[in-house]
Amino acid sequence: MCGIIGYVGKSNNVGEILIEGLKRLEYRGYDSAGVAIVRDGSLVWEKTAGKIHLLEEKLKGVDISGNVGIAHTRWATHGEPNRQNAHPHFDCSGTIALIHNGIIENYQTLKKSLSAENHEFVTETDTEVLVHLIEKYHAKHSLEDAVQKALKLVEGTYGILVISSKEPGKIVGARNGSPVVVGIGEDEYFIASDVAAILKHTRQVIYLEDQQ
Ligand code: GLU
Repeated sequence: MCGIIGYVGKSNNVGEILIEGLKRLEYRGYDSAGVAIVRDGSLVWEKTAGKIHLLEEKLKGVDISGNVGIAHTRWATHGEPNRQNAHPHFDCSGTIALIHNGIIENYQTLKKSLSAENHEFVTETDTEVLVHLIEKYHAKHSLEDAVQKALKLVEGTYGILVISSKEPGKIVGARNGSPVVVGIGEDEYFIASDVAAILKHTRQVIYLEDQQ
């Protein structure tokens, strides 16, 4: 289990805030890193195997401004630590991006039934089932309702952050067995797996309980 961080708020420098937050989570160790931002109705993203500075290199020349985004450092449990398996993961339409800390115990059963419904899987991770399950419900429900419905079917541990280009200005987060803390700033919010990632910005924090 490694690191997650999200930002939504008044700053237009979401990319910088997220990368800086990831660096504060580096002490936990990780094998890959990635970021996704909502801008102009679509997702801008990049991910890589290896260290955060490699992610920064890949992002050179990419406009990572915006005011909503999520970022991840992975410690692989299911699937090689390569770029494809790095988080964020995406739904079939590229509308939803999701990052996850933890392990989805029943991912094989979920993957089988989602594949039968024509969801296309492109990674070896346990995590990817989450984003396709959410996609299924997001067709008819808001992002937060879709996440709630999806998580009812999930067994395992998770701290997740989810964004949708259909609903910009919003991050949905949830936890079960993996830590998630919300930081409240002035017209801005942070959400992370570890308070170290957000203390620079705010000391007003709320620790989520399991199932929240
Ligand atoms: N189980 C997930 C994976 O292997 C998440 C690992 C993590 O917590 O970093 O991608």
